[in-house]
Amino acid sequence: MIPIANVFSTLNDFPPFPSAIMFTCGCNLRCKYCHNWRLVKDQDIEHLTLDDVQAYLDEASEFIDGLVVSGGEPTLHQYDYDFKHFLCTQSRRLLLKLDTNGTIPIEPKFLDLFYGISITLKPIGYYKSLDDIDTVKKNMDLANQICTYKELRITLVDNHEQFMPELDYISDHLDSDWKVTLNNAVKVDTGTLADDWNECNYDDLEELGKWVKEKISVPVQMLL
Ligand code: SF4
Repeated sequence: MIPIANVFSTLNDFPPFPSAIMFTCGCNLRCKYCHNWRLVKDQDIEHLTLDDVQAYLDEASEFIDGLVVSGGEPTLHQYDYDFKHFLCTQSRRLLLKLDTNGTIPIEPKFLDLFYGISITLKPIGYYKSLDDIDTVKKNMDLANQICTYKELRITLVDNHEQFMPELDYISDHLDSDWKVTLNNAVKVDTGTLADDWNECNYDDLEELGKWVKEKISVPVQMLL
């Protein structure tokens, strides 16, 4: 049984589709700014079952068009038979979107279940090795073949220059169907995985935003 922390409805995570979003526990990365640290560590979480999520989706069915599968890192569970069966059933009535950090190779048959994908790019120091970035590129290529809705999210922290070589490296994998979203990591009351990081300041955000817009010929949205 896969560990699921929560499910609720959202208007922001899969626009323009009103959706439910479910969160699986566990992650292969440990980003300092992570707000979902309880999910990542799977600490003090009362797990839901897939039947609980199904019951929520049944109740919400009149007002949702999509289901976002988020985490943690949901691809850790891509080989779980029950999870795949559950997603296959949902894909017959809802548009599914996968939220992933892109560093785990995604099985084509798993991604086939998803209409959309959001890959979140990390500052270079957050990857365990450069192989992780090659895997992100391979997953982007797979998404180019399979998914209709494609989003690259870039979470900004201090040392934003770290993104530039990385964006250079992946920019030719972004076809014109991708949209890029820059969002600023913020310190929150509930804490993050570690404290030794800073929010990106406004000047840096502006500089990075301009650089990305020049570098990448796809729509760029900034969520500050
Ligand atoms: S921010 Fe995302 S990738 Fe990073 S530790 Fe948290 S859930 Fe994992």
